[in-house]
Amino acid sequence: MAEHESLEFGKADFVLLDNVSLEEFMANLKLRFEKGRIYTYIGEVVVSVNPYRAMNIYGRDTIEQYKGRELYERPPHLFAIADAAYKAMKRRNKDTCIVISGESGAGKTEASKYIMQYIAAITNPGQRAEVERVKNMLLKSNCVLEAFGNAKTNRNDNSSRFGKYMDINFDFKGDPIGGHINNYLLEKSRVIFQQEGERSFHSFYQLVKGGPDSLLRSLHVSKDPTAYNYIRVGGQSSINDTADFKAVADAMKVIGFTAEEIQTVYKILASILHLGNLRFGVDGDTTLIENPKVVELIGGLLATKEESVEKALLYRTVATGRDVIDKQHTAQEAGYGRDALAKAMYERMFCWIVGRINDVIEVKNYDAKVHGKNTVIGVLDIYGFEIFQNNSFEQFCINYCNEKLQQLFIQLVLTQEQEEYQREGIPWKHIDYFNNQVIVDLVELQHKGIFSVLDEACMNVGKVTDEVFLQGLNSKLAKHAHYTSRKLSPTDKSLEFDRDFRVRHYAGDVVYSVVGFIDKNKDTLFQDFKRLLYNSSNPVLKVMWPEGKLSITEVTKRPLTAATLFKNSMIALVENLACKEPYYVRCIKPNEVKSPLLFEQERCRHQVEYLGLLENVRVRRAGFANRQEYPRFLQRYKMISEFTWPNHDLRSDREAVKMLLQSCGLEHDVAYGKTKVFIRTPRTLFSLEEQRAEMV
Ligand code: ADP
Ligand code: MG
Repeated sequence: MAEHESLEFGKADFVLLDNVSLEEFMANLKLRFEKGRIYTYIGEVVVSVNPYRAMNIYGRDTIEQYKGRELYERPPHLFAIADAAYKAMKRRNKDTCIVISGESGAGKTEASKYIMQYIAAITNPGQRAEVERVKNMLLKSNCVLEAFGNAKTNRNDNSSRFGKYMDINFDFKGDPIGGHINNYLLEKSRVIFQQEGERSFHSFYQLVKGGPDSLLRSLHVSKDPTAYNYIRVGGQSSINDTADFKAVADAMKVIGFTAEEIQTVYKILASILHLGNLRFGVDGDTTLIENPKVVELIGGLLATKEESVEKALLYRTVATGRDVIDKQHTAQEAGYGRDALAKAMYERMFCWIVGRINDVIEVKNYDAKVHGKNTVIGVLDIYGFEIFQNNSFEQFCINYCNEKLQQLFIQLVLTQEQEEYQREGIPWKHIDYFNNQVIVDLVELQHKGIFSVLDEACMNVGKVTDEVFLQGLNSKLAKHAHYTSRKLSPTDKSLEFDRDFRVRHYAGDVVYSVVGFIDKNKDTLFQDFKRLLYNSSNPVLKVMWPEGKLSITEVTKRPLTAATLFKNSMIALVENLACKEPYYVRCIKPNEVKSPLLFEQERCRHQVEYLGLLENVRVRRAGFANRQEYPRFLQRYKMISEFTWPNHDLRSDREAVKMLLQSCGLEHDVAYGKTKVFIRTPRTLFSLEEQRAEMV
């Protein structure tokens, strides 16, 4: 608790509120935002409000102020949390993680970058070259990932369209020696379509606007984004694509991408742009490509024969019994295949880029027997809860992800408190709040959950439509308290269309349209395309498509569905986080218009509610507001009491703290654990701080 901060800036820790009510919580949050205090604690959780302006609080001098300090010694800051996670890791040999949550535009990605910068700044005092190299790579990787994984949306000019979990590995000295990035569900539909006012991934505009003339000429790409269907709508943005092109190219070089690899990336981007311009038509019974010149360009860029590209676009090889035949697409099917190819090529390239970064940053030459345990800090920056006008499969996955993380938060915040009291031998009373496990089950349960119903619908023989999926939901989930649909609740006004179903998420009700669920879940890419890319004479492209090796008769296994893959990745993520000591950053977006001045009460209130912040404060207060190890406590307060100043001669620090607290009449509000003193109400801590201030 940062008591030295004057109260004119509000309470630095929500635990210190006089009454724990939503009104007081909001008043404090607003006051602090208006005073430029964007961070506030709930115990060890940082609540952050996006300032939407440059803040002078991330410089070298600020870093120095936080280095090695305890949370309550300085005003609330991300750096303090980063330092706490780092200290826990270093002192106690614990793997830790920092989970950053909040809705799109709330400031998650910026926070993750400041945390990384902080960790980079406080480590490697010995300036070891290898460690410096690793740090540089970790920082540089952000720039590349953002170019390919971020886009301008109506909510955020630099919105991450993928989830990211990054592990940083440390050696016994506490210096970073490597890392690993996991990426989750890239929003690849953006490659072919964007809402009004939004853009595709930055990488496309960077290439078109920033690529040198000679490069663009070789790719047959013009400098005008409106020449390409896939990125035509674009919309203006504050982003300097030209400068970014160079920065990203440099970062890729530094990370160790070869010239050939970088060229291939450009060729893939260009091919996708050209693909989007392909037009299909019909002549009698024949489907044809109306602008074959474009096919020639694509063939050249992908290092495949023009005829092969054309054939893969217009025909599909199917095995019927023992025969293999070429089945011609309709123009519509061909268009579908083209878009699927564009999305798949982009997604594959993105995953390949992440893989290449991982190759470079992975821990090398570390022998735990010689060097001691290698510990980890994980940083999770993943999409927040989304409610749009029209919610589809992507929103469903993203919101499920948030249910999982909320469940983890509930378990950890509670368990952690409980365990600490147990460990220290202190009795405590359980606090109840809404447990969202029921919603997690609604989505992921085997046989009964929404994902299972979806997978079943996709495997139907015969009719495979979104409507069949919806019928399945209605029959299996009719009685579920968190599920309904137009069919089940015909008078419900929020369910406007027959295709709608609604899930009562912990963060609010979301109406999803079933349209597209089946397609997106099956995520079909014709084997012909995989073979086409595998057979490219460009070796970099070839390695991205290993499954293209199989001929049509060898492809027997049905690939896992998108829902199953996502579910598995979320379960693995949560397992991974659950075995680490967690630190939380809860980001709040103050307004919809990116204004540094506006605190929209309603918006903020909603976020505070669904992030469960008030319950968080209650849990924290139901227990003990503050706890400190005995030696640390003495170090700070020993001047208050004659028994402890300047040194005590009691049997233990525990005894000394008892004497100290008795002597100032505070013993009724504390409990003595095995290694820590627990202070129930913040007032006691105030009082100690005041007495301390009088003495020093
Ligand atoms: P999210 O990842 O949660 O979608 P971002 O981290 O991309 O959101 O933040 C959106 C925008 O808000 C940033 O591009 C930046 O303009 C602004 N922003 C966020 N955090 C800060 C901060 N700490 N200081 C200044 N501006 C910020
Ligand atoms: Mg982001």
